[in-house]
Parts: sequence; structure tokens; C-alpha cells
Amino acid sequence: MNYVIPFNKPHFTGPELDYISQALTTGHLSGDGQFTQRCSNLLEEQLAVRKALLTTSCTHALEMAALLLDIKEGDEVILPSFTFVSTANAFMLRGAIPVFVDVRPDTFNIDEKLIEAEITDRTKAIVPVHYGGVGCQMETICSIASKHDIAIVEDNAHGLFAKYNGKYLGTFGAMATQSFHETKNFQCGEGGALLINDDKYVERAEIIREKGTDRKKFFRGQVDKYSWVDIGSSYLPSEVLSAILFAQLESRDKIQSQRKALWERYLFSLNEWASKEGIKLPQIPQGCEHSHHVFYLLMNSLEDREALTAMLKMHGILAVHHYVPLHSSKMGRQLSKKSYDLPVTNYVSDRLLRLPLYNSLTFEQQDKVIDAVRSFSSKNNSGKDRFNSTFAYQ
Ligand SMILES: *Cc1c(COP(=O)(O)O)cnc(C)c1O
Repeated sequence: MNYVIPFNKPHFTGPELDYISQALTTGHLSGDGQFTQRCSNLLEEQLAVRKALLTTSCTHALEMAALLLDIKEGDEVILPSFTFVSTANAFMLRGAIPVFVDVRPDTFNIDEKLIEAEITDRTKAIVPVHYGGVGCQMETICSIASKHDIAIVEDNAHGLFAKYNGKYLGTFGAMATQSFHETKNFQCGEGGALLINDDKYVERAEIIREKGTDRKKFFRGQVDKYSWVDIGSSYLPSEVLSAILFAQLESRDKIQSQRKALWERYLFSLNEWASKEGIKLPQIPQGCEHSHHVFYLLMNSLEDREALTAMLKMHGILAVHHYVPLHSSKMGRQLSKKSYDLPVTNYVSDRLLRLPLYNSLTFEQQDKVIDAVRSFSSKNNSGKDRFNSTFAYQ
């Protein structure tokens, strides 16, 4: 079906084509040319991370993190079930067992209070996902991790340039991963980055990313020929992709402020309707400067969610759901060593509906979405604060 208002449209800010043709004319199209370098420098300077290595996807950045942590058969990794499959897969490829933790009812981020109970002597990493670019409770998570000497890898696919208590997301863990997939705030079709905050991973990360060779050192003149020194793979994006990404990163303030305007317009326009219908809109805790990556409605029931999805579809508007909880997916059920009881994850996953949000969405188009949504009346409205009474918290 062709939607009048799709869920997402990849956004171009202007100089992308020009930069692509510059990359083509330099004759250097493989990885780590000038555009890749410019993207890395920009990320390192703005975020003040020790190293930012561009990768072909966030999935690959997560795989690099698993390799760097020497994840082995039987190790355990703690993560939310409410996330994208790559958060788990990357570690499972090394033989790890994912241990799923429920999410907080306010942000749908991993519930930091439930983490410590899951730690065993096999736990090698905690992987918090900053859902929608709203920061997890990082001071608690960091103190649990350091108490047990476990590494944190932040899956920050949604949250580039967002902050938690004044500090950029992606700068709390030993490492963090970014996505530049076309559905994310900054995109080059397919792309990602591994951010490294802990010095001890930098040298090996460069080797793993370069097929297990010390080619980076060779280019810096630190060795006179490069050779095979470790395991590794090929995680470098082509200069063509980095050229697109550089245009996006240069316009980061403009891209973010357009998304912010649309996001806040949804919130403002739907607030009254939502509170009348008992529907929950995003809640941003104090101290979080988020990235305006998702705007969602938390409906009162699965039935309501399906009905609104169908109604929007009739208006030519695509609204989408996610995530199928990893613990209850086909794969998750096969591997789980225990049966999970993750009530918030299950509740949210049945009821969450994401509205179209992309930079070229005009206010007129957004008004169509808003009007359609506001014409919907909940069949399961048992009143305001239904969710909060279901999940009493704090
Ligand atoms: C999009 C996404 C990924 C994967 O990103 P790719 O760049 O497509 O590999 C991983 N984790 C989360 C939370 C995501 O939203």
C-alpha cells in the first residue's frame, strides 16, 4: 500500500550529493578516507569520546563490542527484552546467553532496580538501550557495573547527541554503539559507529575493524608493513556512505531542532485528547535532554491499538508498532534458560503505537495525523492514569 503519510522518509539536508561526488573524484572509495575521518573527528570532538569508529551498522558496532569484551560460550549479557534483535544477536554470535530484564513504566528503559538480581559470575556485560534517546538511569547502572566489575555497552542507536544529567549518551559505558540506518535521526542508508570511552579497547578495536590486521598503524607509519595480528572482520563503511553521513552530522542542530518542533507539536496537540482517553504520551524524566527520536501513544489495550492503526491506515497514514519482546519471540523462547515474567515489557509491546516522525513531515501533514488520532475514542478507557495504577512506580 502507498501511504500518503509514510512512517519514515530518509532525510537529506542538502550537500549530500556534492559530498558524494567529491568522494568519487578523490578516487578513494574504500573506508577511512577523508569523509570517514571527518565524521569520526566530529563525533570525537562533540561528544568528547576517546575514539569514534564508523562501522557499517549499529549491529556491527555491537558485534565489535562483543569481540572486544572477549565474550565466550556461556557468558551472560544483561539487556532489556524491549529492544531490537541486534542488541542480543551481537553477543549471541560469540556464544553468550542473553538475560532479559523488564523496563521502567515511565521511559521503557531497562529497569535499573532489577539488574543486580540478574548478575552471576558469568555476567560479562550490561547493555542498556536508551529508548527513544531518553537516557537510562545511568548513575545507578554505572555503580552496579563498577561494583561487580562488569562492562557497560550502551546501545545508543536512538540517542546520538542526547544528554543525561548534562552528559552525552554514549559517554557512560566502556563503549557505546550508534546507528545511521535510514530510520534513525542521522542516516546514510546503512551505517553505524562504535564509540569507545575506555582507552584499553582502542588499539584492538582498530585491528578488529580492519580484518584483524594492524593496517591503521601502518598508515600512521608506526609499523613498516601491516599483517595479521588478531581475529577481526570488515566493519568499515565506504567513503560514499561517510560522505552522506558527514552532511547529516554537519547539520545536526538543524536536524534535531526540526524533529524537536514536530515532536513537541504532537505532544501539545494530543495532550488533552490523551488525558481524556486515558492514553499515555511520552514522559521525559528530569535531567534528560532527549533526541526526539520516537513519538508514541501508549493505548489502553491491544484492541484499541489495532483499531487506531487500521483507522490511520484508512487515512493513508502509516503508524507502526515495536518491539516484539525478545523473550517471547520464537528465538527467545528457544534459548531462554528460565521463563520470564516481564509485565511492563509485555504491556507496552501490546499497546505502543509510533506516529510518523521525519524531517520533511510538514505541519499540514502532521495536522492530518493529529486530527485522525484525535477522532479516535478508546473502547477500553477506564479513566485517567490507568497505566500508572497498573504499574505503581516510585
Ligand atoms: C536500529 C537499532 C539497532 C540496529 O541498527 P542497525 O544500524 O540497523 O544495525 C540496534 N539497536 C536499536 C535499539 C535500534 O533501534
